Amino acid sequence: MLTAQFIFVMSTHMPEVKSAFLPGKGHLFVACNIMIVIAMVLAEMWLRTAAQYHKQAVVCCGFIVSYLMYFVLEPFVDGAQMTLMMPIMISLIYFDRKLLHYLGGFSILFYAAVYFGLERIVLEKPLLEFFLVECVFIVFVVMSHMVIIRAHEVRDHLEQLTKSEQELMVERAISDKLLKIDALTGLYNHKTFHEYLDSLLEQCESNGLRLQLALFDIDNFKRVNDTYGHWVGDLVLKEVAARVRGMIGLNDFAARYGGEEFAVIFTDKSFQEANAAVEELRSAISLMEHPYAGGKPITVSIGLCAYQLGNGKELLFRKTDNALYAAKHGGKNMVVTASPSPEEGTVYA
Ligand code: GH3
Ligand code: MG
Ligand code: MG
Repeated sequence: MLTAQFIFVMSTHMPEVKSAFLPGKGHLFVACNIMIVIAMVLAEMWLRTAAQYHKQAVVCCGFIVSYLMYFVLEPFVDGAQMTLMMPIMISLIYFDRKLLHYLGGFSILFYAAVYFGLERIVLEKPLLEFFLVECVFIVFVVMSHMVIIRAHEVRDHLEQLTKSEQELMVERAISDKLLKIDALTGLYNHKTFHEYLDSLLEQCESNGLRLQLALFDIDNFKRVNDTYGHWVGDLVLKEVAARVRGMIGLNDFAARYGGEEFAVIFTDKSFQEANAAVEELRSAISLMEHPYAGGKPITVSIGLCAYQLGNGKELLFRKTDNALYAAKHGGKNMVVTASPSPEEGTVYA
């Protein structure tokens, strides 16, 4: 606006413009422009430094600038009163209905004062112009009102959408969990175990990641079921699973592999560490008390195998299964490790 005024001043004989607002050859014109700049700089400084009253600062600045602009433009431009609508626009920036009503009402009243105090007396503007300008103000306030209502509707709609999206995400997370987790034990299920192992083995092959697989099988579990009933069997399964889950590390992965069989994958342990971990687990499980199952200890047999690069999943499973089989045949309640050569093995009991 200042640039436009500068061009205008350079190309016209300002003092020749006849206006009651331009006494003293344009001093008011210059003073208004200076005050506009000062008001905007002050508002900008307030917004950058103060933490509060930003809205009030913008509203004040808008008011001051719009009325100063009116006095700058009035001598040269027909319909300079339109600049007085600027405060109404501020309420649109904030989508604030209350602010719109205040600013709209104030602008309508203030223009009445400007008209009857200045325009009618000094400029002899017809009353019709006053009514027309006020009508434009009212129409503008009503339209702004509609815009704000619409904006609020859109906001509510978006909020609703976000909310239902969040609900959907929660539902998806729950069903995702249900798909991955075994309902009885809370461990990962067979399918998830295989998916996870597949991706881990891929990483092993590409990044040389270490991995050990342990298969657990509860000893004489059929007898527990037959003697104390299936519900006791279920309780035992739950408790053993909870112990397994509670004792493995954050980077280890435990799953219910089958009926009374569990699988644990170790990814950040050396073979010796994994061996010590399963041995500790075996011992802890054998020390658990099950009063509802006759107070007799429940034990597990464990086969453990370290993954050898290039072996593939099938061989890893065969070796681990063989180790578990050896543990069963060795008298149960023991850990058997599959050594790098399939024939040898270590027994812990
Ligand atoms: P071993 O020491 O050789 O492993 O003997 P075992 O009795 O544990 O093995 P077997 O394979 O003969 O029996 C496993 C039993 O586990 C049979 C089945 O009824 C029981 N079982 C499998 N899934 C569940 C379950 O979800 N709940 C209960 N209560 N029992 C189950
Ligand atoms: Mg079994
Ligand atoms: Mg068993």
